[in-house]
Amino acid sequence: MPELPEVETTVRALREPLIGRTIIAVHNDWPRHVGMPGLPELQTRIRGQRIERIDRRGKYLVFTLNSGETLIIHLKMTGHLSVVDQDAPPDPYAHTIFVLDQGQELRFRDPRKFGRVYLARDRYEILGSLGPEPLEPAFTVEVLCRRLKGRKRALKPLLLDQGFIAGVGNIYADEALYYAGLHPQRRADSLSEADVTALHASIRQVLQTGIEREGASIDRYVKPDGSKGDMQNAVAVFQRTGQPCYGCETGIVQRIVLGGRSTHFCPICQT
Ligand SMILES: [Zn+2]
Repeated sequence: MPELPEVETTVRALREPLIGRTIIAVHNDWPRHVGMPGLPELQTRIRGQRIERIDRRGKYLVFTLNSGETLIIHLKMTGHLSVVDQDAPPDPYAHTIFVLDQGQELRFRDPRKFGRVYLARDRYEILGSLGPEPLEPAFTVEVLCRRLKGRKRALKPLLLDQGFIAGVGNIYADEALYYAGLHPQRRADSLSEADVTALHASIRQVLQTGIEREGASIDRYVKPDGSKGDMQNAVAVFQRTGQPCYGCETGIVQRIVLGGRSTHFCPICQT
C-alpha cells in the first residue's frame, strides 16, 4: 500500500499538471469508489470546480477546490493517479475519471477497487481522526513521548494506527523500528527517553529517505508517470527475511506476523 512517501511523491508530481485545471465531468463505473457524498451528488457538485492546491495528509491526497470544498482521495492497496490526454487508450482499471479542461483527464486506476474518493465541505469529516503528521515541526520528541505514555500495545501495530501517527505503513514502520533498535513487539509504555528520541528520529529519517527516493516500488506502486521509485533499494529489513542484517552482520532478518501484518526485524539489533 502506498504510504506517506509514496503519496507525497504522487502529490508533488500532480501539482504541475493539475493546479489551475477545472473539472468538467466525472466518469465512474464503480460507484463504491465514492465514499462521500455518493456518486450522483459528487458528479453534480464537482462540475466546474477548479483545483487550487494539492496537499497530503497522512496517506490521503487533498485537493482544495475553488468553492472551498475538498476532494480527497485514498489510494489504499492498488490505487494510482495519472494525468493523460483524453484520447489516450482507455484503461479498464481506471474506475473513476475526472475529465479536465484543456483535453486532459485525471485517471484513478485501481485494480483492487479498495481506493476511495470523497468530496467534503468540511475536510475534517474525513481527516479529523488522523494522528500527527510525522514530518511537521509540531511532531516533537515530547509529542511522541506523550502519545506513547500508558499505551500497552506493541510498537509495530501502534505505528500502523493512523490515529496514533499519520502516514506510516508496513514498510516504514519496520524500517523505523530497525533504525531505532526497537523490537516490533516491545510494549509502547516500556520505552526509555533515549528509546523515544531514537524512534522519533528514525521515523522521520526513513520517511524523508522514502520521499527523496520517490517511494518504494515493492508491490504495485509506481509514480504517476509509470516509473518506479527507488526506496526498495534502500530498505534495511523489509522483506529481507533470511538475509544477514547490514548493521550487525551476524543477525538474520526474521519475519513474524504481528496484528495480521508481515513484520521484519533483526533479532540482534532490535530489543
Ligand atoms: Zn542486526
